[in-house]
Amino acid sequence: VLRLEAVRKTFGGNVILRDIDLELRRHTVTALIGASGSGKSTLLRCCNLLEQIDDGAIFLDGEEITDPRVDPDTVRRRIGVVFQAYNLFPHLTVLQNLTLAPRRVHGMGKDAAEARAVELLDRLGLAAKAKEYPDRLSGGQQQRVAIVRAIVGDPRLLLLDEITAALDPELVAEVLEVVRDLKEQGLTMVLATHEMAFARDVADQVCFLADGVILEQGPPEQVFGDPQHERTKRFLGRLH
Ligand code: ATP
Ligand code: MG
Repeated sequence: VLRLEAVRKTFGGNVILRDIDLELRRHTVTALIGASGSGKSTLLRCCNLLEQIDDGAIFLDGEEITDPRVDPDTVRRRIGVVFQAYNLFPHLTVLQNLTLAPRRVHGMGKDAAEARAVELLDRLGLAAKAKEYPDRLSGGQQQRVAIVRAIVGDPRLLLLDEITAALDPELVAEVLEVVRDLKEQGLTMVLATHEMAFARDVADQVCFLADGVILEQGPPEQVFGDPQHERTKRFLGRLH
């Protein structure tokens, strides 16, 4: 679905990402792990063209999206994103939050957009909340609505950046359960996470980032079970 080739990103002369080669295959989940500041969020933002890369190329379904002639909006329509802080519009109900983009961006009719939103809410056990405003929901519920909003347009790929980091521990599980559910439905995802147990459980591929480089990459059993690099060992060791 998505392929990164020799991606390099700098901020004001500092190299933040270098030589990033990464392939996200259809129906797979990729977990980005690594210390704070290692470049996980920057990598996700580059995939969504929220950041412009300095060198290399990114391909979505074979099309080079980092080509300057490509309209970033058409790319973002095909890539869903959820960030750490649930960015729901506070002045809109859950249903209005969910139907805004399908109607404005995808040109869907009101009834079709609402039907689709309700179907997804129902699947996540949130149907009763459709008419509520975000501040009436728990953090976990808000984050689940944010996930629904990211997938309501049937994206090819979903980017998840620390989606449980702002949640109380007891709310983390319900959000991770949604991710597991989406995986079962075959959605291609890449997630930056500090939830190592979850990454190990749900990911098909794990990338350990250190100082903007993918230092180690492989199936979770390998990266967690038998890390090759000293830095990976130290990083994982610190967490236990
Ligand atoms: P965390 O686990 O804390 O979320 P991260 O792995 O997501 O960390 P990034 O947010 O990608 O790390 O940051 C990587 C590096 O890029 C950091 O050194 C950060 O200071 C720098 N950086 C990120 N965004 C910018 C920016 N807009 N301008 C300058 N430097 C930036
Ligand atoms: Mg980050």
